[in-house]
Amino acid sequence: MSRTKFVAGNWKMNTTKASAVELAKAVAKGIPAGVQVGVAVPFVYLDVVAGAIPASSLLLGAQDAYFAPDGAFTGEISLAMLKDLGVKFCLTGHSERRHVIKETSELVAQKADAIYAAGLILIHCVGEKLEQRDANQTLQVVQSQLDELTNKIQDPQRLVIAYEPVWAIGTGRNASDAQAQEVHAFIRQALAKKWNQDFADRVRIQYGGSMKPDNARGLLQQKDVDGGLIGGASLKADSFLAIVRAAL
Ligand code: PEP
Repeated sequence: MSRTKFVAGNWKMNTTKASAVELAKAVAKGIPAGVQVGVAVPFVYLDVVAGAIPASSLLLGAQDAYFAPDGAFTGEISLAMLKDLGVKFCLTGHSERRHVIKETSELVAQKADAIYAAGLILIHCVGEKLEQRDANQTLQVVQSQLDELTNKIQDPQRLVIAYEPVWAIGTGRNASDAQAQEVHAFIRQALAKKWNQDFADRVRIQYGGSMKPDNARGLLQQKDVDGGLIGGASLKADSFLAIVRAAL
């Protein structure tokens, strides 16, 4: 089964209006054929970035969304609002939302359902903390985060799992090729159990956590690594595009 690799940048709470536009334009210009590329832009710059890359293959993404369609949810952003701006994918379960913002598993699950139901590509992030890895609980933690997904998800092209060990995010310490492959293979097996093998074979599983131009190729060559979710290295077009090219 050949899966088109998907490399997504997560800009987090970075950039200014001007630098977001400049970065998006530079990335859009450098995308090679044969790989899907996206950027998850801060909410407030989505509109201006969408306007700056009108006919590009660069997929516009959001870092979060609220699950309710509209109403009294001060400060939240709906999926209809995001779609209105041309957003094509949205993250859920990022470790910073789970562990810094303290989103519960129930909330993550509601968001995942809503993102898929809205017709977007869902990038569902999973990953263990260092103490959980040290206690041999990695696969158990990842399984419980995969359990947040329901069988309402039927199109494997619109489900992406990002395996992001928490200890590797923003730390400069990436998982080894073998550590990543082990968990990715487990994730595919878990998807096959919950859906079926054909479904699991079509889902892209990204690796995230200190992926950089110099470690990307090894990670991306692993059998079950179908792309990357990139934080720090996505803030410069050169380093992000070097990772994109490593996926070819
Ligand atoms: C992320 O935040 O999803 C991420 C992988 O960050 P970094 O690449 O900076 O580790």
